[in-house]
Parts: sequence; C-alpha cells; structure tokens
Amino acid sequence: MLYYLPQVFIFIFGLAIGSFLNVCILRIPAKKKISEGRSECPECQNKIRFYDNFPVLSWVLLGGKCRNCKNPISKIYPFGELLTGILFLTVFYKFGLTKNLPEALIFVSVLLVVSFIDFEHQIIPNVVLLIGTVMIFMSRLILGFLDGMVFENLLAFLLGGGFGIGIIAFHFFLFFFLTKKAGFGMGDFKLMFFLGGFLGGFKAVVLFFLASFIGIFIFLVFKLLLKREISKFAFGPSLCLAAYCLIFIETKKIVGLLT
Ligand SMILES: [Zn+2]
Repeated sequence: MLYYLPQVFIFIFGLAIGSFLNVCILRIPAKKKISEGRSECPECQNKIRFYDNFPVLSWVLLGGKCRNCKNPISKIYPFGELLTGILFLTVFYKFGLTKNLPEALIFVSVLLVVSFIDFEHQIIPNVVLLIGTVMIFMSRLILGFLDGMVFENLLAFLLGGGFGIGIIAFHFFLFFFLTKKAGFGMGDFKLMFFLGGFLGGFKAVVLFFLASFIGIFIFLVFKLLLKREISKFAFGPSLCLAAYCLIFIETKKIVGLLT
C-alpha cells in the first residue's frame, strides 16, 4: 500500500489542479479574472462553500446539484478534475519522481486548458500559451543549469518551436494556395511553437501529421456517429492530443522505425 503512496498523492494533486484548470477554462474565455474570489453557482450566484468545493467528491455527494438552488452542476467539473488526475498519473508513470516531472505536469495542464477552450470557443487564449511557454522556457533554463547544458537546452527549445511554426506555415500556405481559405488561425501557430518547443524539432514534425490524422478521425466521429455537423473545426484539441501521445514515445524508436 505504501508503495502506491506517490501515485495516490500525484492523483489527488491532479484533482486539485484540475479544479483550478476548470476555473481557467470557464473564466478565461469570459474575460473574468482568475483570482476573482471563490467560485459561485452560475444559476443562483451563491458562493460555493469550501466544503462543497472538494474535487469530484463534492459533486458526487451533492448528487450533481447546487446545495442552494438544486440546479444541476455541469458534469464538466468532475470530468475536468478526473481527467487532470489521470493525466498527472500517466505522466508520473513516464517520468517518475525526476527533475523532468514538474515541466511535464505543467505541459499537460496547458494541453487540457487549450483543448477545452479551443473546442468550445474556437480560440486559443494568448495568456494561456504565454504563461505555458514562459514556464517551460524557465524549466529548461533551470534544467540546463543542473546539467551544465543551458545553451543546448534553450537552443533545442527554440529550434523545436521554430520547426513547429515552420511545418504549420508550410501547410497554411499549401491550404491557402489550394482553397483560397485560411486553414489555421494565429492561435494554431503559437500553439505549434509551444508544443514544438517542449517536444523538440523531430517530434514537432511528427506532431503535425499525427494531429491531422486525429483531427480527421474526430471529424468523422462527429459526422458519422454523432450526426453532428461541425461548422468551425478547431485544430487545437487534435494538436494537444497528438502532443500528449508523443510525450510517451521515444524519438530514437521513431527514427529506428523509419530507417
Ligand atoms: Zn445554485
């Protein structure tokens, strides 16, 4: 039992961070301040009491309803929290208690926030990517100091980001040339820089193609299975999902498969 203590801790930590990410997902597109005091019920505006604000558990105990007005509380809340817990756990299995763990946790947190907001509103807020990029950049700086490879680490980050921008720019112009429409928004370019910077140049290229397949797959699922037409298709969630998958894949193994 004691053996699983770090896993239990990281999962609960994930639930708590997920609670915070939910707030970001809801408040950032609505242009509200993150630090705007405690959360309130969207129906009756009653402030949520601290003992009703435990991740997942409170939602289950309250039967998914507001204590005050009994209106249903969106399933998005426990879903976002559980998902963050699971993401943190999977990242922990990959990195363990190493110096690379913190930045990987930050990375998947940004992926989650960007995916939810882009899926719902077809925008990728600058503030999320800016904070994410600065945090990963700082992490590479610190890791660089620890390994004595500051210059190499920062160069790899910038090159990865540059590759990310390069590959999406190429497809942007190709798409524009063929259809006279803009296939990607500015947010996608900035997202590719962030993802490429974290993953590195080689994975940034793989990322774009993997995301295209995931995007087509999601599109078909919505169209054929759910019979829902998507007029505006956000590419961000596909990119984020692909980036998440690539965390677990070793570059050496991909290169091995290709050669
Ligand atoms: Zn209420």
